[in-house]
Amino acid sequence: MDSWETIEIKKTSLTEELKKVQNAKEISEIKSEYIKKYVKSLYSKLKSLPAEEKKSFGKIINDFKNFAEEKISEAESKFKSQKNTTKYDVTIFKNNIKLGSVHPLIKLYKKLEEVLVGMGFSVVQGPEVELDKYNFEMLNIPPHHPARDMQDTFYISAPNVLLRSHTSSVQIRTMQNNKPPIQIISQGTVYRVDDIDPQHTPMFYQIEGLMVAENISFANLKAVLIKFLKEVFGNNTKVRFRPSYYPYTEPSAAIDMSCAKCGEKGCSTCRGTGWITVAGSGMVHPNVLEGVGYDSNKYTGFAFGMGLNRLALIYYGLDEIRKFYENDVSLWEQL
Ligand SMILES: [Zn+2]
Repeated sequence: MDSWETIEIKKTSLTEELKKVQNAKEISEIKSEYIKKYVKSLYSKLKSLPAEEKKSFGKIINDFKNFAEEKISEAESKFKSQKNTTKYDVTIFKNNIKLGSVHPLIKLYKKLEEVLVGMGFSVVQGPEVELDKYNFEMLNIPPHHPARDMQDTFYISAPNVLLRSHTSSVQIRTMQNNKPPIQIISQGTVYRVDDIDPQHTPMFYQIEGLMVAENISFANLKAVLIKFLKEVFGNNTKVRFRPSYYPYTEPSAAIDMSCAKCGEKGCSTCRGTGWITVAGSGMVHPNVLEGVGYDSNKYTGFAFGMGLNRLALIYYGLDEIRKFYENDVSLWEQL
């Protein structure tokens, strides 16, 4: 039978154990050990005692039970209050807040702008909701001209108000309000009715250049574009000019660049040809110059236009234009 001394020793060991507890689980283990198991075992021993001893031993058990419950409850409340003060320490400064990243289209645009501004171009902007006059007619594309089919257009209210299908409209507005010499880039969002696929989206970003002055020739166009593409894509880049057709330029040329990804060997990006078309260009059509009040016998000019999204695919080595609209920050951080 447990003597009074044994029970006193148990009190001491309980006190010592409670001093060492680290968490609520340990307290509950002590509770189970001392109250559920030990007190229960004392009560079962009480049953076997002679009647005259039962009263005094019962009192010893009750004293121990009260002592243990009080000590455990003290430890529990002390542990809870300690836990609360550390949990909400608002003075801790965590320096790992995840910031966003510059969008790769903006990053590339800033690079292109820097190169062109360095070559003397200034940046102009214009409205995205545009009049047919500026988007088509003054660019030598009268109503019913078959060239309108080249740019399937979103109309706000047909036939006069539309979402601009290129930023050439800004060039017309600039020429109308300024005398030559003109050396500008117009850039921004443009819209064309197009199904979404890996290479196309109905909204994309365009950057166009225009230079009009006396004695501007195709040689100036070639010099500017070759220098520009080498600055952006590296000095080893080869550039070629291919005859093409645009209603607002004559002659017109598509501009191809050697594929940086495969080194002209042929890959999926260049569709096996080793070359990628990156821009359209040409000498400004005399009708366009006359339309804004310039003397086409005195002034000549060149213009070029590029889709920024397409250029970005090549620049970053991606294969899907849609990735630019998914806003995957972890991808942006790699580019
Ligand atoms: Zn290639």
